[in-house]
Amino acid sequence: MPIYEYQCKTCESKFEVLQSINADNSELVCPDCGAKKPAKVFSSFASIGNGKAAACDTGST
Ligand SMILES: [Zn+2]
Repeated sequence: MPIYEYQCKTCESKFEVLQSINADNSELVCPDCGAKKPAKVFSSFASIGNGKAAACDTGST
């Protein structure tokens, strides 16, 4: 499982989160101030494997 780095927009604290590829960051909270939706930080990691298309199941009609 990859580790992602996030930065809180409120207190600017950086923290790392271990999460699966498909994980959504919408439920993440800052461990310092509890603010929601931290910004993902792209460090020296090369972006690898974007793989499958994200939207493949719209389920409309
Ligand atoms: Zn914070």
